[in-house]
Amino acid sequence: MDSENSESIDQQSPWHIVIVGGGFAGLRCALELAPHDNIHVTLLDKNNYQQFHPLLYQVAASILSPTNAAFALRDMLRNFDNVDVQMDEVTSIDLAQRTVHTAAGNSFSGDFLVLATGSRVNFFGIPGADKFTLPLYTLTDAEKLRSAILEAFEAADRKPDNIPAGLLNFVVVGGGPTGVEMAGTLSDMLTRVLPKEFRHIDPARAQVFLIEMAPAVLGTFSPASQTYAATALKEHGVQLRIGTAVKEVTPNEVLLSDGSRIPSKLVIWAAGIKAAIVPTQPAAPREPNGRLKVQPDLSVPGFDDVYVIGDLANATDSDAKPLPQLAAVAQQAGRQCARNIVASISGERTTPFVYSDRGILAMIGRNAAIAELGKQHHELVGPIAFAAWLGVHLALLTVVRAKFEAIVEWSWQYFTGEHPGQLIDR
Ligand SMILES: Cc1cc2nc3c(=O)[nH]c(=O)nc-3n(C[C@H](O)[C@H](O)[C@H](O)COP(=O)(O)OP(=O)(O)OC[C@H]3O[C@@H](n4cnc5c(N)ncnc54)[C@H](O)[C@@H]3O)c2cc1C
Repeated sequence: MDSENSESIDQQSPWHIVIVGGGFAGLRCALELAPHDNIHVTLLDKNNYQQFHPLLYQVAASILSPTNAAFALRDMLRNFDNVDVQMDEVTSIDLAQRTVHTAAGNSFSGDFLVLATGSRVNFFGIPGADKFTLPLYTLTDAEKLRSAILEAFEAADRKPDNIPAGLLNFVVVGGGPTGVEMAGTLSDMLTRVLPKEFRHIDPARAQVFLIEMAPAVLGTFSPASQTYAATALKEHGVQLRIGTAVKEVTPNEVLLSDGSRIPSKLVIWAAGIKAAIVPTQPAAPREPNGRLKVQPDLSVPGFDDVYVIGDLANATDSDAKPLPQLAAVAQQAGRQCARNIVASISGERTTPFVYSDRGILAMIGRNAAIAELGKQHHELVGPIAFAAWLGVHLALLTVVRAKFEAIVEWSWQYFTGEHPGQLIDR
């Protein structure tokens, strides 16, 4: 529906809701609005799929295929005649008119506008980081990474007596959950896949380094969990460089703040994100952390019919602390936003968003994980946490087929040690 069409909405016409971004937040909002007959939704995303970020590192490590970590939006919304999906990039937004303009030259106006564009990778201006590292934020990133890892194995196997310096040094930058999961799983891949499948390579030549500038990995977890994670990573063969920042990345090495250098041709960037801002007119109010300011009900101050949800929003808890940028926060915000829109349409008051914290998790590698469950963050580690991680991520998957496929792939990989998705994508 374009702006001209939406202008003609009258009392009998459905209310038109334009949602920008079909990720965890925007998709959940669309799914909650869809059963309402008096509502028509236009969901815009620059991709035709929802990316399931928590599983991207498993695509990079050849455990899952891309179709296990990204799901077609049209397919997920196919049963709702009142939901239109458009693959198009939104390039500017008029808040007062609740109108978005797209790269394809279209405009969409709604009675309500929902902004849910998420985050994008942040290189913090570190020299060489944007040119010579591979980030892990999108499905495309994960596929590129998978190919780069496998290319390195293949190149080393072709000339095992003349492996270029750093070819098998894999450096992961950032010791948050993404970096820890990537480093642990990659290290498992070196111990389980290399000896069996790349038999000409001496496995001792391959190493995984994890660089974290803070004094501990997993900054948002408890000190006990951080200690467990550091020990488990070392047991899984990861070389930790804690309290050390990356100063520069070149095509052949990583320079660290302690003056040391790690020769490497494959540096994985998992060190940070920033809000994926689309220019708005007038400028939407931002917090110092770059996220957009929202009122307790998730609407933009001064624009009651414009909502911001997910990573883009600086929604806060009861202590006014920004909520973490997590899938669960985004999904719950998407649901609350839909409820508030329905309430507004019905002439009722909107209600504040209250995040129900069910905990945080991180996978380190085979049988090693950390779960801090419930609001009190009760700690679990080891195989029980490993099982909890699997269960929670299955629950987060919206698509039933994906749940079945993930169970099959994880079980297969667990018992056989195989990484079946080892395809180099050229
Ligand atoms: C590698 C990685 C691992 C993670 N692991 C976990 C985890 O284990 N557990 C957890 O809870 N959270 C995890 N997160 C965080 C979680 O993925 C985010 O908090 C969540 O995706 C936020 O949801 P969102 O809807 O705000 O953004 P997204 O899910 O990123 O969705 C944003 C959507 O907007 C679209 N978009 C962006 N700009 C435009 C535009 N201009 N026009 C049109 N469309 C646009 C994008 O294509 C995307 O589909 C992880 C994040 C990453 C990067």
